Amino acid sequence: MADLLEQIQFVQTRIQEALMRSNNAEETVQLIAVSKSQPVQAIVDMYQAGLRSFAENKLQEALPKIKALSHLCLTWHFIGPLQSNKTKNIATHFDWVQSLSRLSDAKRLNDHRPADRPPLNVLIQVNISHDSHKVGITQAEITTFAEQLQQYPRLRLRGLMTVPKQTDITTTREDFSALAECFRLLQSKGWDVDTLSMGMSNDFEIAIECGATMVRIGTLLFGVRQS
Ligand SMILES: *Cc1c(COP(=O)(O)O)cnc(C)c1O
Repeated sequence: MADLLEQIQFVQTRIQEALMRSNNAEETVQLIAVSKSQPVQAIVDMYQAGLRSFAENKLQEALPKIKALSHLCLTWHFIGPLQSNKTKNIATHFDWVQSLSRLSDAKRLNDHRPADRPPLNVLIQVNISHDSHKVGITQAEITTFAEQLQQYPRLRLRGLMTVPKQTDITTTREDFSALAECFRLLQSKGWDVDTLSMGMSNDFEIAIECGATMVRIGTLLFGVRQS
């Protein structure tokens, strides 16, 4: 437990230091703990150490954890690929979907969002590196996609998310900067978006320096995942 507090403190300190090096030092950065492949107890430990927001990328794995921990009042982020037969459960049990890149998924999430819950927070996933192995829309499609989401009142567009191709630091920095530019452009056009989700264990500092407001960290918090 003491180790865990220290590890979270270590990550938070690095987040703050990266924020100081960025141009938006007055911003805050939200830390999302990526709990995929981690057992329920690991999440409870993180909760006791102060974390409240967790991310999962597979519905089948996430559902039992969400149900087992429903008394804790956690915020759950879905960060994995969306499949049409999973959207109902995702819309019901998650608070955020960060991996939205198809209108058909948007429609289903909207239709299935329970009436007694607030609109589902969504981030548009952008394939900023034009990586054929990654999901996401292109930069050029962002505004049109955002406009089309307006027809879905049960979704609340909060911003953009990306997972850049892992190449070299220079390219990663260029990719993060490019998405930050898209995010600022969206804001300058009057969109009420507040979340730029980019950065994982090995690149979150670069992401924050480029303007990330949310980082998704697994390995650095929980240790290496068992596959
Ligand atoms: C697994 C995953 C992360 C966390 O990765 P780490 O390198 O363990 O920090 C972040 N975002 C997405 C979309 C992921 O799938």
